[in-house]
Amino acid sequence: MKAVQYQQVGAAPVVVEVPKPEPGPGQVLLKVTAAGMCHSDIGVMSWPADKLPFELPLTLGHEGVGTVAELGSGVRGVAEGDSVAVYGPWGCGVCWKCAQGKENYCTRAAELGIRPPGLGSPGAMAEYLLVNDVRHLVPVDGLDPVQAAPLTDAGLTPYHAIKRSLPKLVGGSTAVVIGAGGLGHLAVQILRATTGARVIALDVADDKLALAREVGAHDVARSDENAAQSVRELTGGLGADVVLDFVGIAPTVQIAAQSVAVEGDITIVGIAGAPLPVGFGLLPHEVSVASPYWGSRAELIEVFDLARQGALRAHVETFGLDETPEVYERFHHGQIKGRAVIVP
Ligand code: NAD
Ligand code: ZN
Ligand code: ZN
Repeated sequence: MKAVQYQQVGAAPVVVEVPKPEPGPGQVLLKVTAAGMCHSDIGVMSWPADKLPFELPLTLGHEGVGTVAELGSGVRGVAEGDSVAVYGPWGCGVCWKCAQGKENYCTRAAELGIRPPGLGSPGAMAEYLLVNDVRHLVPVDGLDPVQAAPLTDAGLTPYHAIKRSLPKLVGGSTAVVIGAGGLGHLAVQILRATTGARVIALDVADDKLALAREVGAHDVARSDENAAQSVRELTGGLGADVVLDFVGIAPTVQIAAQSVAVEGDITIVGIAGAPLPVGFGLLPHEVSVASPYWGSRAELIEVFDLARQGALRAHVETFGLDETPEVYERFHHGQIKGRAVIVP
């Protein structure tokens, strides 16, 4: 079968022929129907060899949807032909966090060498995807696979990030979304669907700001040295109750620090890793800062329900497997609006 692999540190991904996997006991083989392209892939492909926590080659793609093609022995709960999405942050299934459905925070995954598909295990940018356990599957139930794929990460991650701040996002509150890309344009919609907040989106690209407005942002502004001032002006000087940073570089965490209100939340989702000084006098009083990772399986089901209600719609551009290396290149240069989805 064809697969898109990252084979060599620093080199571009390539389309290669690899053996079609066979499901062992308890495993499920999916015929992939859609695979989303996340900026984290570009992050991973920029890491030096000594930071890479897994071996290469790696088949990319951690936002996967497919049709059940073959069941390993002992698998129950899905049948051949079912359309299912893959919950990506696989855990051990046994620890306390996993028991709560928070496999994203499994306490033993690293020790046991369990890694998400596309981020250590073979991913969804291939004709077939092997899933280790039926519990990682969520029925798509009427959603278009091309829509469902981005929701498994670009939808789920902002949903989880926003959920921690829901008590602060009452009527009259303000939320700022920094970076209106794959995750950010869905964050705007989730905020509109689940909160009473006024939503301000910031980005460096005009087409991304236009998309943010199209999908429901009340205000948009360029993410530059005046951005925090714009947020202050739009909020009568008070600042934003919640700032979600989908970039995480020095200028954006600084905007977050300068635009958050007293008792507000800063949530850094982007993985660039710029430090944010926290301490008395460094941020407005009682600001809480978090850097969440992905979301829970139950939250993925909630995200799908929101999409079925029509509250969430990913803006997608679709491509074939063979085009993937070139699409990564375009994505790297900011030339994808919303999410790129590969349809093998
Ligand atoms: P994307 O490329 O689709 O979107 C990023 C957006 O940020 C683009 O619209 C870009 O124009 C904008 N941007 C760039 N520089 C900016 C700046 N200085 N100010 C404002 N906007 C700016 O990327 P994505 O796939 O949406 O991913 C966003 C980030 O989230 C990445 O860092 C990714 O690795 C990370 N991520 C984290 C998690 C997690 O669990 N924490 C999960 C998925 C993705
Ligand atoms: Zn991702
Ligand atoms: Zn666990």
